[in-house]
Amino acid sequence: MTNAVQNIWRHADATPENVALRADGRTWTYDELRAGIARAAVELERRGVGRGDRVLLVVPTVAEFVFVYHGVLSLGATAVTVNTLCTAPEIEYFLTDADCKLAVGYRDVADALLVAATAVTRPTWILDPGSIGPGAVGAAGERPSYVDVDEHDAAVLLYTSGTTGKPKGAVLTHHNLLASGNALSQVQAIGPDDRVGTALPLFHVYGQASVMASTQHVGAALSLQRRFDAVSMLEMAASHRLTTMAGVPTMWNEMLHARTSLSAHDLSGLRLCLTGGAPLPKAVSEAFQARFGPRVIDGYGLTETTGAATAQSPAHEPKEGSVGRPVPGTTVTVLDADHQPVPIGEVGEVAIDGPGVMREYWNRPDATAAVRNGRWFLTGDLGRMDADGDLWIVGRIKELIIRGGYNVYPSEVEDVMYGHPAVLECAVIGLPDERLGEEVAAVVVVQPGVSLDLADLREWLAERLAAYKVPRVYQVCDALPKGTTGKILKRDIDHDEVLNNG
Ligand code: ATP
Repeated sequence: MTNAVQNIWRHADATPENVALRADGRTWTYDELRAGIARAAVELERRGVGRGDRVLLVVPTVAEFVFVYHGVLSLGATAVTVNTLCTAPEIEYFLTDADCKLAVGYRDVADALLVAATAVTRPTWILDPGSIGPGAVGAAGERPSYVDVDEHDAAVLLYTSGTTGKPKGAVLTHHNLLASGNALSQVQAIGPDDRVGTALPLFHVYGQASVMASTQHVGAALSLQRRFDAVSMLEMAASHRLTTMAGVPTMWNEMLHARTSLSAHDLSGLRLCLTGGAPLPKAVSEAFQARFGPRVIDGYGLTETTGAATAQSPAHEPKEGSVGRPVPGTTVTVLDADHQPVPIGEVGEVAIDGPGVMREYWNRPDATAAVRNGRWFLTGDLGRMDADGDLWIVGRIKELIIRGGYNVYPSEVEDVMYGHPAVLECAVIGLPDERLGEEVAAVVVVQPGVSLDLADLREWLAERLAAYKVPRVYQVCDALPKGTTGKILKRDIDHDEVLNNG
């Protein structure tokens, strides 16, 4: 019997009393989690959902997400999980592109979904807080088991925006999710006694696969926080006695600067923090470890690879700036423009082959073909690998700055900039320049209560970076645009404004 929910059923049989989920001030055991999923599946069936159907979910990081998402999968249907900040036209596009049979929304974020579902006449199911869970739904009865699927059947469809055209739905199969959960639990070396905490959105692959599926793979407990807040995240780590936490670089940075009396002593059970999604500045990871104790280990992956494809090993001293080695079962190579492997140590496009690589982009054979080269999935990221197989990500191909013929990798410059005491956050971007093709610019958020002398910052960078990498244009701002995972969205920075005001 194959289904991405099989691990939950396995642990509900073997260790029914173990804690599975803690969210919204409540706790559920594995037995209760399975019962809640079964109840959700009954409700979905009552609304006509069956094997092969697609169900849209606009639900934040709350317990209802876990119940309904797995309820959809348990029926052999496909969950289309989208950002809770999506507008009605965006949701309308997802509903029609994925041809969803039902749209499920969470009450306080359901306005756009209701407008969109009315426009394209799709039935909706709006979840009130606490409305779904074991025993919460009338006398609906329970489904004894899950539907046995083909392992290559679609389990979820996750839309990625890319830079051009409409978002594409990455089709992730039951096999992809099971393999990713297995690989990540091995990397983190977690077991049934671990307590994993996150505030990552579950509609995104990182929270959904790298965190939730890996936790359930080993029957550990998952603590969720709906909205990331540095102080409450640290408080949750202390009160839930978390052993591991997962987040993105901006979260570690905010926790590092959090005004709290909590110290390494209060978080003594915390042994590992997992980061990913964007480069982690060395200054942040070192200072976080110094203040709170645990190592922050970096993992690299994409929606299309069902999350982490490489990760640092908690057992080994990390190589500075590296995103580690391929996770178990995955192979990574670096290719030149003709898709031939580059010599060790040289920069090229990172390509991945492994059990996490998506089946295809939904209904987009051309887009699927464009990211395939034989066995390889082409990531669009630039990286280099050393002789031990450790990988460094130097940036996205589309974000590479070419200044007067020299390649400038924004993450390298940002990494140095984060070491400056007045810099809280920063983003390095390329601006059009008549003479050089592109010029390097930096957008900086200053630490609260500190003043930044831009001439001093520039001099400080010039001491540490080759002259062609040092930004010539600077803009100080209050905040950088971020996605819901907390990732800095460079494409949303107003380049003209930086050019004119910098
Ligand atoms: P969208 O869905 O809007 O297209 P996205 O392009 O960020 O967003 P994701 O699949 O969430 O899509 O992110 C994958 C990208 O994130 C990778 O291609 C890589 O550029 C970046 N990334 C992921 N992990 C790391 C890491 N550890 N270090 C550096 N960059 C990373």
